[in-house]
Parts: sequence; structure tokens; C-alpha cells
Amino acid sequence: MPKKVSVIIPCFNESEGLLLFYKDLKSHLPEKYHYEVIFVNDGSADNTLEVIKELRQNDSSVHFISFSRNFGHQNALKAGFDMASGNCAICLDADLQHPPKLIPQLMEKWEEGFESVVTKRIDHDSISGFKKLTSRMFYQLTNRLSDVKLENGVADFRLLDRKVLDALKSFSENQIFLRAVIQWLGFKQCIISYKAGERVAGDSKYTLKKMLSFALSGITAFSIKPLRFSIYLGLLFAALSFLYGVYALAVFLFTNNALPGWTSILMSVLFIGGLNLLMLGIIGEYLGKLFIENKKRPNYIIAETDLGTLN
Ligand code: UDP
Ligand code: MG
Repeated sequence: MPKKVSVIIPCFNESEGLLLFYKDLKSHLPEKYHYEVIFVNDGSADNTLEVIKELRQNDSSVHFISFSRNFGHQNALKAGFDMASGNCAICLDADLQHPPKLIPQLMEKWEEGFESVVTKRIDHDSISGFKKLTSRMFYQLTNRLSDVKLENGVADFRLLDRKVLDALKSFSENQIFLRAVIQWLGFKQCIISYKAGERVAGDSKYTLKKMLSFALSGITAFSIKPLRFSIYLGLLFAALSFLYGVYALAVFLFTNNALPGWTSILMSVLFIGGLNLLMLGIIGEYLGKLFIENKKRPNYIIAETDLGTLN
């Protein structure tokens, strides 16, 4: 009985390049395994789902999970992992930026006994300077602020053994940040480097806004350091304003040049006010997270799927 491998592909408005992707993927899957190719349609507005269903007519290994709306890349991956039935699962993007030709290498590592094989992107010239810069900033910031260390450029292109998939199922947290969660889980890990290619069709679905919210949730999901930071900063400024108060009092008591001081008062009020807002914002971010987690809502809603067992 050959081992079964699940391939998971999150798709959001990818109809243009999907056929090309599918052909490339198929040509790189080693023959000795049995496959289940799961496309997760993350509430696409174009005809991505129709394209997937067409593929399915000629290829019984193709399956789909279709969400009721857009739940985001991370949740699409989570759905795929939850429903995969293989001995291992491989996830990759539908735009060929995660080269399918790397799959045999991932599987070799798996056969060697690694349970979590991650890939690391080496930046390609075609990737915009802006994307490179923001992605580097993202890794530096998350590493400095959170308690899990992420390797620079680690992508959501990886292979997970059944053991890791089962462990992952017990995670029900919303706004799940898979890269860090998988690292946190442990198991035998190894890294493969690759050169990122260009998107074959369509545009990146990660807008600046999505990237920012991704970074924020990545940091706050794994660390309370920003909260602690707000305490230090608050203490520092309380001490500074105390010193300033002593100085003002001394000027008032011992000299004759105690001016109305409108400027300095206004400036300190504004500054402390701004700082207050910043710190409230940090606390609010965590509070909001608690609020959302507390509702224990599902990470995604499946509108349609051909995978029988929901587990
Ligand atoms: N994606 C998704 N839901 C989203 C955004 C993206 O399922 O809300 C999918 C998308 O179809 C692609 C993968 O996630 O297969 C990565 O997205 P994209 O290529 O836009 O991100 P980038 O490579 O620019 O980081
Ligand atoms: Mg991409």
C-alpha cells in the first residue's frame, strides 16, 4: 500500500493561473505515492471554484473545500490541514511562487525521518524592494518582540507529518499564525532553501493592510512583551514628568522668572496624551484578541466540499 500524501493549495481569486499551476504540480509529484490534491477556495469572487471542479472531472485525486466567504490564507491552510487524510501534507501557494519542483526534495527529507520540513525563501530580483523590505522588517520585529524565533523568509510552503497534523488539530485559536504555531509545536524540523519565482497570473492578495494585520497578530499571538513595554515606557515618562514637576516648582519658589509656561505645558500634555493613546492601543489589541477568542467561533465555515469526513 503506497503512502498517501495530501497537497493543500489555498486559492483566492486564482482562476487565471490555476491550470498552469495544476499542470506544473502534477509533473512534479513522485509516482510512488498516492495523492489527494485539496484546493481550498477561500471565498473567491472569480470562477476559481469552477476551474477546480473542471479539474476534478478528469482527475479523481483532486478535491476541494469551498468557504462561505473569504476567511484568509491562514484559515484556508488550517482547513486543509484539518481535513487532509494523508500520511503527510504539503501546502503551497497557487501562484507558482512556491515551486512545485521542490516537492520531491521535501518528500525525501520526510522519508529521512523529518516530521516538519519548512522552506525558506531566498529573495529573487523580481520581488519588489518594498516587499523585501517589509518582509525583513516583519521577521525582525516578530523575532524581537515574540517568544518564538522565526527564521527569516520562512514561507507557508512546507511538509507536515501526520503527527504534526494531529497536534495541529487541537488548536482552535482564531487568527491562527501557523508559521509560529508549527515552530512552537516542535517535532523534528529541517529547512530547505529556494528561490522565489514571480507570480504567474493576477496580483498579490496580500495588501499592505493585510500584511500589517498579519504582523500584528503574529506578535500579539505569541508574546505579551508589548504590554510589558508599555509599563516600562509609562514608568519612564512618569519619572520624567515628576522631575520636570520638581524643576518647575523650584523655578517658581526660588526665582522670579516663572513665566506662564504655556508652551511647555501644552507640549507635555500633548506628548503624554499621545503616549497614553499608544499604550491604550496596545492594551486594546490584546483585549480585542481576548474578546474574539472568547467567543470560540470557528476559524472558517465550509459552504461546499467533496471530502466526506469533517474532522
Ligand atoms: N490566499 C488565500 N486567501 C487570502 C489571500 C491569499 O487563500 O485571503 C492565497 C492565494 O490564493 C495564494 C496564497 O494564499 O495561493 C498566497 O497569497 P499571495 O500570493 O497573494 O501572497 P504573497 O505571495 O504575495 O505573499
Ligand atoms: Mg504569492
